[in-house]
Amino acid sequence: MRPAEFYKAVQNGFSPGEKDIVPLLSDENEKELFDTADRVKRAIFGDEIRIRAILEFSNYCRRQCAYCGLNCKNTALSRYRMEPEEIVTQTVKAWEAGYQTIVLQSGEDPFYTGELLSEIVREIKGRCPIAVTLSVGERDFEDYKQFRNAGADRYLLKHETADPAIYASLHPCGTLENRVACLKELKRLGYETGSGFMIGLPGQTAQTIAKDLLLLRSIPCDMAGIGPFIPHPQTSLKDHPAGSSRMTVRAVAAARLLLPSANLPATTALEVLDSTERRHVFSCGANVIMKKVTPPEFQQLYDIYPSDKPLELDIPKDRIKLEEQLRSLGLTPC
Ligand code: SF4
Repeated sequence: MRPAEFYKAVQNGFSPGEKDIVPLLSDENEKELFDTADRVKRAIFGDEIRIRAILEFSNYCRRQCAYCGLNCKNTALSRYRMEPEEIVTQTVKAWEAGYQTIVLQSGEDPFYTGELLSEIVREIKGRCPIAVTLSVGERDFEDYKQFRNAGADRYLLKHETADPAIYASLHPCGTLENRVACLKELKRLGYETGSGFMIGLPGQTAQTIAKDLLLLRSIPCDMAGIGPFIPHPQTSLKDHPAGSSRMTVRAVAAARLLLPSANLPATTALEVLDSTERRHVFSCGANVIMKKVTPPEFQQLYDIYPSDKPLELDIPKDRIKLEEQLRSLGLTPC
């Protein structure tokens, strides 16, 4: 099935399988895939691009994901934690600069207990009506409930790969089964639920990417971050090549056909690898961009993958600059 035909069939209740998705990701269907995804996105969101602020408040992590510079085996990395009051203050600054959503992200850091993180969310909500997205990994279901009761609106938990064998080879500290169970619980609790995956992991094929896309649909996810793998020198995958930025854009476009109303960001990893493709992805289905409001001294240390880190942060000015960049691409910041 060609992309336009595929989308129409899905809209009419067709339930696609891996074999229906693999052809969407091929060279020969690329132009039609991008055009169809762009049409679908414009029909729902117009030219609007949603801007989110992201605050990386701790780089401590108890896990050992094979691709990530924050893994606890990386002893070369200095670790930091932001104070609860600092997290709240930085979020309020983001609100004052015009952001309507903050993503609070960290490694899996047990220092921030269910109670403490709930208190932070409650404090933020008491000071400004910003939507709060948490991205703090796998937690007890009781914690998820507590965060939700405190006012958290959304939760982001990328599955990274839906292939059980690849998942097991990269994640010595967890199982795909538990990851999926967490996503289902988050959805059940009423969070706007986000997941996502990487392009270019060892062993990945078009078929496993199809599996990833079907997992997003099965939850079903309200948000999905799809970015390329970027090797980090302090990990066991340091010599594995980076993922394809082109395939990343194709996967975003295919996600738009499977989840028409989902929020799909142009990921920062895509910007690091290929800034042209990051701009291009807005005309292939992406409708969200994230801007860091993490203090620069901590951005230097939030080293999931190597990237240029800024030396300065001016939240209002950075936001205005981003809006100007989006307008120069013919997009409307929202
Ligand atoms: S990917 Fe997340 S859970 Fe895994 S090591 Fe990095 S920060 Fe920790």
